[in-house]
Amino acid sequence: MSSSSGERSSCLAGESYSAKSGDREILAVVLGGVASFEIDGIIRNATMISPLDLQPSFGFGDRLGLATPGHIAAVRGTKFAPVFAQQSVRENARTGRTPQQVMDDARRAVEDAGWDAPWGADADHLKTIDDIPPFIAAGYTFFTVDPGEYVDNAADSDSPDALRGKTAAYDWDELSALYLCDDDEQAWGRFDTETLMRAAAKYGKAIQHAVDMFRRLSEVKDGFDFEVSVDETDSPTTPAEHFFIANELTRRGVKFTSLAPRFIGRFEKGVDYIGDLTALDAELARHAMVTAHFGRYKLSLHSGSDKFSVYPLLARYWGDRIHVKTAGTSYLEALRVLAKYETDLFERIYALGRERYESDRKTYHVSAQLDLLPDTSDLPALLDDFHAREVLHVTYGSALAQFGKEIKAALVKHDDAYFDGLQAHFEKHLGLLEGES
Ligand SMILES: [Zn+2]
Repeated sequence: MSSSSGERSSCLAGESYSAKSGDREILAVVLGGVASFEIDGIIRNATMISPLDLQPSFGFGDRLGLATPGHIAAVRGTKFAPVFAQQSVRENARTGRTPQQVMDDARRAVEDAGWDAPWGADADHLKTIDDIPPFIAAGYTFFTVDPGEYVDNAADSDSPDALRGKTAAYDWDELSALYLCDDDEQAWGRFDTETLMRAAAKYGKAIQHAVDMFRRLSEVKDGFDFEVSVDETDSPTTPAEHFFIANELTRRGVKFTSLAPRFIGRFEKGVDYIGDLTALDAELARHAMVTAHFGRYKLSLHSGSDKFSVYPLLARYWGDRIHVKTAGTSYLEALRVLAKYETDLFERIYALGRERYESDRKTYHVSAQLDLLPDTSDLPALLDDFHAREVLHVTYGSALAQFGKEIKAALVKHDDAYFDGLQAHFEKHLGLLEGES
């Protein structure tokens, strides 16, 4: 059974067996798919890596393979189940790492730190069926499918005739019965023929692709977290479109654990939310009505780092039903260490970022301007500047290609500072997400 739910048929709930290991009696109990071993009275999870299902969760992308110790220190004692290995296909291409290497780095840190609770590994932004196998082979437990290339952004402004043409192949009797029979205005809006055609034209092919990806994964993997992300599309996902996507996935049998819409305003990399927070508040309330209606998946926030003004809203509307993804902010914390202790190396990385920004930014939603970049007279405070953060964030691939060895060596040398910086940075994230004011 290929389910992301708690009722995994492969789970031998409560069954136990005894085995001898050396002169110790080991009691193995398989609970919720996680094998626990009791050694000398201490319960340890042997295969702590597992699907996280609906637990509140937090993704710690680590592009350098050195950040997990700091991530562990921050997440320990919080309600969040961590995803310690999380890398997209794009990130792997830019960092020159494989899914297996990302997994190995995370696993080593987990073992060294004695982390003994479930954790996940996220194959992030999978775009094609061919992207899947290396992540399966490396034992990933969380699969994020990004069908963004199949989203038809023109549907937002197409004429009714054009929409009719694009959706001619759909079963309109069925869709009408599902979406047009309700006269009541729902929190997410009400569908009429035109809005339904727009939603179907915009997301129909993307939904079909997500269904295909889910079915493929189900053939090769038992029990996994499945996320559908449309966060990198050109226009925001309206609450009605969110409803349409969730409803279509559900009725086609896709067991998704989380869904990542694109929200209004700008969620740029490594910086706080840009936009009207009051408008976002109202919009999130409507999205929360959609997730509450289905009641079976988490809201996922991508580009989720440093959105300090938004976390209290997420905590209020979703509570535990939340997944947040971060990645580049850990790289920026690494650069903060370099800015403090290895200023010469930092200045070379910064100069390269200035050079590479215009081309490296192309696949990202960022708005930093080169002419507003500060000089390096105030280090490491420069790492708090909006423009510097975005420029350094999106040029990480170029920096690692040129200075990767030096950067890693410097971080190993200053590992205490990196650890402390990461711990403090993520404690701030997690505290706000837990609802602390
Ligand atoms: Zn994303």
